[in-house]
This record gives sequence, C-alpha cells and structure tokens, in this order.
Amino acid sequence: MIHPRETPCYLCMICPEVCPTGALEPVTKQEVNMGEAVVDADTCYAFIDILCRACVDICPFQGTAIRQNAALEPVVDTESCVGCGLCVKACPAQPEAIRVVRNL
Ligand code: SF4
Ligand code: SF4
Repeated sequence: MIHPRETPCYLCMICPEVCPTGALEPVTKQEVNMGEAVVDADTCYAFIDILCRACVDICPFQGTAIRQNAALEPVVDTESCVGCGLCVKACPAQPEAIRVVRNL
C-alpha cells in the first residue's frame, strides 16, 4: 500500500525485482496502473484563481497524464495517469487538493 502524501511511487521500477513473493510482473512505466488522480475543484488553488501548477510540473507524464486547460486548471487524463501519486505529494494545499483513487 502506498500513502502518496507521505511517500509516492517514484516509478523506479525496482519492486518487481525485489518482491519476495514474485507477486509483481515487470511492466513499463506507462503500464503501471495504481489508480488515477482526481482533482478537488473545491480546494484546488487553480480553481480559486491562485496560480499553482505543482501537480503538472512534477508529473512524469507531464502534458499527457495531467495538463492545464485554458483557465490554467489541472486536468487529468485518466487513461494516461498511472496513479503514482507524485502530484499528491507536491500539492501545496492543506489537505491535498489532488488524490489518487482506484480506477473509476
Ligand atoms: S498520479 Fe499524478 S503525477 Fe502520477 S501520473 Fe497521475 S497525474 Fe501524473
Ligand atoms: S498542486 Fe494542488 S492546488 Fe496546485 S494546481 Fe495541482 S491540485 Fe491544484
């Protein structure tokens, strides 16, 4: 279990090698599927006109899994988001305005 606000997945891809039970199959970073990020429009700074793009900047699939729309609000592409949680860790809102949930 990953608690991304504390420690997200850095997609180092070592866990299949070190897993003691062989439960994890090697996959590419793009094939990782831990869930999908969801932005809370009620608490996200960008939705209340405070400039913030921490989640967009930290995403390893920047421009694909998450991007800014014309209003500079973050938009997640659920097909491309792998659920790593790096955006959750980087979000300056308290509590975080972006969370990873199971694939909807
Ligand atoms: S969880 Fe966040 S940082 Fe990770 S791929 Fe999805 S949008 Fe990008
Ligand atoms: S990092 Fe958090 S507050 Fe900033 S734009 Fe992303 S979800 Fe909104």
